[in-house]
Amino acid sequence: MIIAIDGPAAAGKGTLARRLAEHFGLAVLDTGLLYRAVGLATLRAGADPTDTNAAAAAARALAPEDLGDPALRGDEAASAASKVSALPEVRALLLDFQRSFASHPPDGAAGAVLDGRDIGTVVLPDADAKLFVTASLEVRAARRLKELRERGLEAIHSRVLRDMKERDARDSNRDVSPLEPAKDAFVLDTSDKTADEVFAAAVDFISSQVRSG
Ligand code: C5P
Repeated sequence: MIIAIDGPAAAGKGTLARRLAEHFGLAVLDTGLLYRAVGLATLRAGADPTDTNAAAAAARALAPEDLGDPALRGDEAASAASKVSALPEVRALLLDFQRSFASHPPDGAAGAVLDGRDIGTVVLPDADAKLFVTASLEVRAARRLKELRERGLEAIHSRVLRDMKERDARDSNRDVSPLEPAKDAFVLDTSDKTADEVFAAAVDFISSQVRSG
């Protein structure tokens, strides 16, 4: 079973992906981490994340153990990620990694859940179920602010909101693989829902897809 989850930052994709993976016995891949790792490695090499050659070199050198770096969760990595992710060369290099994770999930799992921006549209267009998880900008910024503060980081509401708006615009307006729901995706607005309600709605949809598919 292959489940594709897409949507903007802080909409609740990661939490949902982990819960679905546990429920259905699937492996999970947060594909944003791949772009974050490439973005951060490009910065650490002293290059600009819009530099195609430097970002492509970082994507070629990417190793699975790089994905455990705690710095990947920070805003610097997020912003660099949304720049390298607009480069077609970087996207092409990461495509194989994502598809082979889905076709050969680790630890003998029965399938995989991938979450990102273009999983249902580009990476896994034949996924068994596609979800597009979204929420209003205000709600997503408030969630991100809470998460940052819980991690003991200083965060200012206006700055979080501005960064998120900028990242949304870059992800939605880029030429390659822009953020958009797949035609056959179930759109789940999480603005007024608890994590349990989101999970229940997703399980209902996936079960109906699998029965009819
Ligand atoms: O999901 P996360 O916020 O970690 O993603 C960081 C950035 O990586 C996104 O803003 C987006 O630019 C990029 N990304 C992408 N395609 C994916 C996953 C993430 O372009 N499948």
